[in-house]
Amino acid sequence: MNFDRHTDLSRRRLLGAGFAISGLALAGCASAPSSGPSIGRVVIVGGGFGGSTAARYLKLWGGNVDVTLVERNPSFISCPISNLVIGGHKQMADITRGYDGLRALGVKVVQGDVTAIDAAGKKVRLAGGGELAYDRLILSPGIDFMLDGIGGLAAALDSGRVTHSWKAGPQTVALRKQLEAMPDGGVFALSIPKVPYRCPPGPYERACMVASYFKVAKPRSKVLVLDANPEITSKKGLFEKAFKDHYAGILEYRANNELKSVDGTTAKLEFDDVKADVLNVIPPQRAGDIARSAGLVNMNDRWVGVNWLTMESTARPFIHVLGDATFPAPLMPKSGHMANQHAKVAAAAVIQLLKGEAVNATPVVMNTCYSFVTARDVVHVASVHQYDDKDKTFKTVPGSGGVSAAANQVEGRYALAWADNIWADMLAL
Ligand SMILES: Cc1cc2nc3c(=O)[nH]c(=O)nc-3n(C[C@H](O)[C@H](O)[C@H](O)COP(=O)(O)OP(=O)(O)OC[C@H]3O[C@@H](n4cnc5c(N)ncnc54)[C@H](O)[C@@H]3O)c2cc1C
Repeated sequence: MNFDRHTDLSRRRLLGAGFAISGLALAGCASAPSSGPSIGRVVIVGGGFGGSTAARYLKLWGGNVDVTLVERNPSFISCPISNLVIGGHKQMADITRGYDGLRALGVKVVQGDVTAIDAAGKKVRLAGGGELAYDRLILSPGIDFMLDGIGGLAAALDSGRVTHSWKAGPQTVALRKQLEAMPDGGVFALSIPKVPYRCPPGPYERACMVASYFKVAKPRSKVLVLDANPEITSKKGLFEKAFKDHYAGILEYRANNELKSVDGTTAKLEFDDVKADVLNVIPPQRAGDIARSAGLVNMNDRWVGVNWLTMESTARPFIHVLGDATFPAPLMPKSGHMANQHAKVAAAAVIQLLKGEAVNATPVVMNTCYSFVTARDVVHVASVHQYDDKDKTFKTVPGSGGVSAAANQVEGRYALAWADNIWADMLAL
């Protein structure tokens, strides 16, 4: 049993680490991480799923690339598994990791905020006034929120009355505390924006995790899911079954319930007002602020268009953009796993561009997203995406991927192993 499990987890680790196949990995160039003269300076903004992975793989594959990673937070805190913290099944320490593994590989990790990008001068400005020059810039800034369309939301979030908890960290802790303080018999309302947003199944997992907490600790309480979408946007049948089998009488799902404004902890919808004891609003999203201020947002006024062979922005040369900030290829999810895969495509391409070599013309990336429906039972959705030269985009490989047949505890173990493995893969743990 243990052997099987070990073999399976190791296989998963290899898949996670190497599936975004680059010509470099196959050609055996993953040697001599820092020998010889530097082939160039790469600055990376954002030490989340995309940026950290890019930093590590530039060092692993790069011969000798001078890599500086700028991240505003002192440690990495993972959104994946953060819903379990909100449900009381995990602690913040379980989802927090440091950057020492990257430092040990020779990555210069700078804790700071990049406030501006001078694309013509090829440098970034830091909040303290310093500047970093680059030959290639990689941005993986994640998302920021579009608050203007929902009256009162910005003030409600600022006051701490309402949480988003869609960036893990203090917001995760704040929501957990509100749930603990809520009296039995209270109402937790969760507002979900229209797609696209980061992690399509994440809100439904959150609803399950809060309901699992109420079921044991506050059985007279209710979870009200107010979804702006016409139906559950990911793993629909599996979530519907979980709502019915585990949370009947606790969890109520309402489709087509777009949030219009917030007053205190009352959610104001088009035809209805919902008074909640704890109101959690996942706001509509767009590419992170720094991508916007750098003039990179050129798709639907929200996202960054990229060349999928290199992840280079279609708006500005020498700047590569990864992860949630990008305008996705068809059916490509905004996920940590996908940001990790983007990073491997970008790391390989940046090295090849710095060396004046051709980039890999046939990249393949994949994604698996696990969701907890109880503290132990998990469901997954997976997909494989191959570059299509004719349409210059990634397309899903017919017959690849799919969803779990049913929620199960084996996938519960896989989900936790997936998290450990991807954190190790990106942060060199
Ligand atoms: C509740 C929840 C559950 C999720 N579960 C899963 C899951 O199970 N599986 C999965 O694959 N994905 C999951 N996701 C989605 C996943 O978290 C994101 O898709 C992923 O984080 C995107 O990676 P990224 O590199 O684009 O952005 P991020 O990981 O958000 O990284 C962006 C980083 O950039 C930093 N930054 C931004 N601007 C600046 C600046 N100007 N200067 C310095 N630093 C800056 C930020 O501090 C941040 O650390 C989940 C998300 C949520 C909210």
